[in-house]
Amino acid sequence: MKLIRPILLLLALAGPLFAGAGERDSVFDLLDLSQPGLERVADLHREGDDHAAAAALLEYYRTRRGVVCPDVRLDAVTVTPDERRWADEALEHRFFVHAGYQPSFFYGEDIDWEYWPVRDNELRWQLHRMKWWAPMGKVYRLTGDERYAAEWCAEYLDWMRKNPLTEYRDEEARGWNTAPNVYFAWRPLEVSDRLEFQIHQFLYFLPSEHFTPEFLLRFLENYHRHAEHITRHFSAAGNHLLFQAQRLVFAGVFFPELRDAARWRATGVEILNREIGKQVYDDGVQYELDPHYHLESINIFFKALRMMDANGYRDEFPAEYLRTVERMIEAHLNYSFPDYTVPMFSDAKLHDRTTTLPCYREWTEVFPDNAAIRRLATEGREGAAPDYRSRAFRTSGFYVLRNGWEEDATVMVLKAGPQAFWHCQPDNGTFELWHAGRNFFPDSGSFVYAGDKEVTAQRNWFRRTAVHNTLTLDDRNLDSTASHCLLWRTEGRDETVVVENPSYAGLTHRRAVFFVDRRFYVIVDEAWGDAEGDVALHYHLTECEPLERPDDCFVATRFEDGNNLALRVFGAERMERTEGWVSRSYRHREARPSYAFRTHKRAGEAVRTVTVLLPARDAGKSRIEAVLRGGFSSRGAAVRVKIDGRKYDLKYELN
Ligand code: MG
Repeated sequence: MKLIRPILLLLALAGPLFAGAGERDSVFDLLDLSQPGLERVADLHREGDDHAAAAALLEYYRTRRGVVCPDVRLDAVTVTPDERRWADEALEHRFFVHAGYQPSFFYGEDIDWEYWPVRDNELRWQLHRMKWWAPMGKVYRLTGDERYAAEWCAEYLDWMRKNPLTEYRDEEARGWNTAPNVYFAWRPLEVSDRLEFQIHQFLYFLPSEHFTPEFLLRFLENYHRHAEHITRHFSAAGNHLLFQAQRLVFAGVFFPELRDAARWRATGVEILNREIGKQVYDDGVQYELDPHYHLESINIFFKALRMMDANGYRDEFPAEYLRTVERMIEAHLNYSFPDYTVPMFSDAKLHDRTTTLPCYREWTEVFPDNAAIRRLATEGREGAAPDYRSRAFRTSGFYVLRNGWEEDATVMVLKAGPQAFWHCQPDNGTFELWHAGRNFFPDSGSFVYAGDKEVTAQRNWFRRTAVHNTLTLDDRNLDSTASHCLLWRTEGRDETVVVENPSYAGLTHRRAVFFVDRRFYVIVDEAWGDAEGDVALHYHLTECEPLERPDDCFVATRFEDGNNLALRVFGAERMERTEGWVSRSYRHREARPSYAFRTHKRAGEAVRTVTVLLPARDAGKSRIEAVLRGGFSSRGAAVRVKIDGRKYDLKYELN
């Protein structure tokens, strides 16, 4: 007995790879050892020398040619100061989990992968994306410092040990406050994230002395389990499914030695080919109606294409796939402002030049003949702006009224689309207005996603209809978000868009926006139906200390650079300052001036208001008048506006 126990102990310490025949065989069984280049691995494995076979396999990967990951440039590794910090903090187990929770939390000397310091679901889920691992790999590559490699290997194995894939039933993956750990660690979106970025880590750390043959087998075993888990637990729809499919393609392309790789690749390609037809409307906008996830979706389709292309599989995506990706990019560049930012509608955060310029640079390589993409990729040095200005994306309900593409342009993006999904907010009729480098009406944003009661309440504040530039009844959220376009007219001196939403039971909201002289905006809002209550028109300015004249329902910014805007509402009973916040990134928010222009509506009556939004240098001194001409008619509306003595007659008529 005394002799046997140490032997058993040694076998146990050796880990499952070489401990039992079943386990040992399973790792090698995952590989197609008949593939060229694996002859020596096959021979050694057949001879029963799996230590040597694993070493031969590691040597194979260290010298492998012909399989590339376009997102990893080993000959030009760069690391940002943030990435450097995340890598260094990881050595002390302070993990960069989420930009919204900084400084990073300490996860324990002995890592606690279930630590959940703030009960925001994202904080718990995204721990399992290990965003600090690829930065550790980059720093390792740049410095050759083995501490990063040693720590990565240790954390990798520690994670495997403490987060086993136990029974996973999709119907259990709810009720996040009580869900067992496996539903966080093995949530398919997180698993797919690891599938993609463990390729990066693999490439960065491969030369390390700590990347041993034994570690390689553990890695492949874990990686294979990830890909198989995805194939059994795809999300039903939306961007999660796209991410999972794209990353499954990556797994299949990057590890063709695994027997299941061709199936993963084919499955991922099939889903992407199917979903690009389902999730992208005919006008090129992804159906979640969220500029952030639209951009993510472009990059998902694009990355899959590029990965396949780089490894010789381009033909598996039909020409229509490429055309759709190009349409998506065109939608994005149309509703972008000249400074590369896009509206923060729905759950979108502020994306600026640092995010989107690199995207355009990659896109122009695949669409070299698209002059508008090239212009943005080269910051105007090459290519050309589109030969049109305003454009309607009528299926998704994005309407862009712009007078140019350069930095001095005036651009309004109006959002009034169909019912969308979880990320989309009940904000029909809202807009952002950008003029000469300043976004005067940034959307309130989203602040947080979901979590316990407190976190979800914060999210719900930023989702409210009343925190958007639109019309509410009793400050309630819209009952219905199903806008349709009644008129889109861009010829002539003025441009006009008219949209309508069955906002509440008993209240229809019609909004007509005139882009007058292609210089300023006049909005006619009409709300009618059986409902009775407080109708409010909400406007939310960017952070500033504006001039306010409540009796005139007048507000004007007074920025010292002379880029200002005056707002005046006609037809409301009173103007009121309301609580206002703008969140441009997760968990960050700034106070801003917000206003409600209120009118009591009686049953059967129509509430009709006119809003003038006038960019002007000395906005506070603007003389603005407006009067509706004629009574309410569902057939159209007419308004006379006077700006500093000059008259404008505006109207629309529906057939
Ligand atoms: Mg919003």
